[in-house]
Amino acid sequence: MRITVIGAGPGGYEAAIMAAKLGAEVTIIEKNSPGGTCLNRGCIPTKALLATSDALETIHNAKAFGINVEGTVAPDFKAIMERKAKVVSGLVKGIEYLFNANNVTMIKGTGTLVDKNTVAVSKDDGTTVTIKADKIILATGSVPIVPALFQFDGKKVISSDEVLELQALPKSMIIAGGGVIGCEIGQFLSRMGTQITIVEMADQILPLEDAETAKQLARQFKKDKLKVLTGNGIASVEVTETGIQANLTNGKSVEAESMLVAIGRRSYLDNLNARSIGVAVDERGRINVNHKMETNIPGIYAIGDIVATPLLAHVAAKEGIVAAYNAVKDAGKTVAYQAVPRCVYTEPEVAGVGLTELECVAQGIAYKVGQFDFRALGKAQAMSKIQGFVKIIVDSKDVIIGAAVVGAHATDLLAELSLAVHLGLTAEQIGDCIHAHPTLSEAIMEAAHDVHGVCVHKA
Ligand SMILES: Cc1cc2nc3c(=O)[nH]c(=O)nc-3n(C[C@H](O)[C@H](O)[C@H](O)COP(=O)(O)OP(=O)(O)OC[C@H]3O[C@@H](n4cnc5c(N)ncnc54)[C@H](O)[C@@H]3O)c2cc1C
Repeated sequence: MRITVIGAGPGGYEAAIMAAKLGAEVTIIEKNSPGGTCLNRGCIPTKALLATSDALETIHNAKAFGINVEGTVAPDFKAIMERKAKVVSGLVKGIEYLFNANNVTMIKGTGTLVDKNTVAVSKDDGTTVTIKADKIILATGSVPIVPALFQFDGKKVISSDEVLELQALPKSMIIAGGGVIGCEIGQFLSRMGTQITIVEMADQILPLEDAETAKQLARQFKKDKLKVLTGNGIASVEVTETGIQANLTNGKSVEAESMLVAIGRRSYLDNLNARSIGVAVDERGRINVNHKMETNIPGIYAIGDIVATPLLAHVAAKEGIVAAYNAVKDAGKTVAYQAVPRCVYTEPEVAGVGLTELECVAQGIAYKVGQFDFRALGKAQAMSKIQGFVKIIVDSKDVIIGAAVVGAHATDLLAELSLAVHLGLTAEQIGDCIHAHPTLSEAIMEAAHDVHGVCVHKA
């Protein structure tokens, strides 16, 4: 079985390696660096930068731990960006190693579909090679959306691609969009010393998350002196001699040296020729797939940011594994979308899985909530990380249908709750499970007890 994968992001490289492990002869085509958006321009560089701002914050708070820090504590932006690049390049090498170890052939170039069994690859040196495949997996990902009104120039008005390659720290920046990317990059730059103003059209930052968790983050932003303007969009942008003026829909305006546009991403099908060979695409340019991740053309699969599922690396990766199983083994595997973890790596971290309370209300689902504050946990007090809570949402049968966590390590804590939603566990089952003491995970057990009003550590 010959499999060709186009795009080596988290969707494509997982699919390629899994297909090889299942016995297929695999070729993967990538026009840039393996790892895709996630590794080169997304998840990993942002987390490397946030690790720096986190370390800086810990040093600023040293006194609270009984440590005297003397002399100047100042971020070195060049060194920070170099560290980020080193983390990325190490992981890129790791993917190349795995390709070699699993006999996956990587061809550097742009892949174009010729027909359902043929891909043409245009290489950087101007030559083209043609590859024959029994099955093809499309994984070409997404790119930032920057509407014309923002006057994108890649210098003063930039997207997440450029912000992660900044050579110098901007004095001030407007961030259009208070979603995950806007909040993460906003907090990093703010803690480095940039004056940040986030403009979010919805009534809260992180519009898709639980309102109370978003409020906790907004509170921290206020402490950080990071300005947040919600409830109004950007109507127009003027590029001035000194920077940018963003005119808001309420008639007010904001000025800064530069602007980051972080309002969303679109699927990237450029040069792929998918539509021309008959691959069905929806009105938003995303490839239609069935539950097996197969397109309308049998033998062509599509995964990750190019399909109409959450734009997340772990979703792309899971879809890649499922597509590989189905392509190589006709396994009939599907993705369990009911438990997609959503994580924001700010301080405090914000995480959610399953339904929010608002979604329960909108869908007319009768639900109950259990909640427990970090403040009452021994571990949180010992760590001086008392800001945060766990919220568990159950249906009328006590089955956990959603959860939200805000606070230190919220993104790691979410794993237990994701498993609970994935397996349809009840709050009673989670509450009955012994959780180690002292850990932050005790908040999950206590929130589960609180669903039934029997939380010992709550008044
Ligand atoms: C700033 C930022 C932070 C993020 N943080 C997180 C996070 O913390 N957690 C999370 O889960 N998600 C995060 N994401 C989202 C995540 O990066 C994407 O959901 C994920 O990378 C999608 O994977 P993919 O494989 O579908 O596509 P991509 O990662 O976009 O990879 C697609 C690859 O295909 C290549 N390609 C495209 N067309 C062709 C062609 N014709 N021929 C050859 N190669 C081609 C591209 O060069 C690219 O390498 C973040 C995104 C951004 C922008």
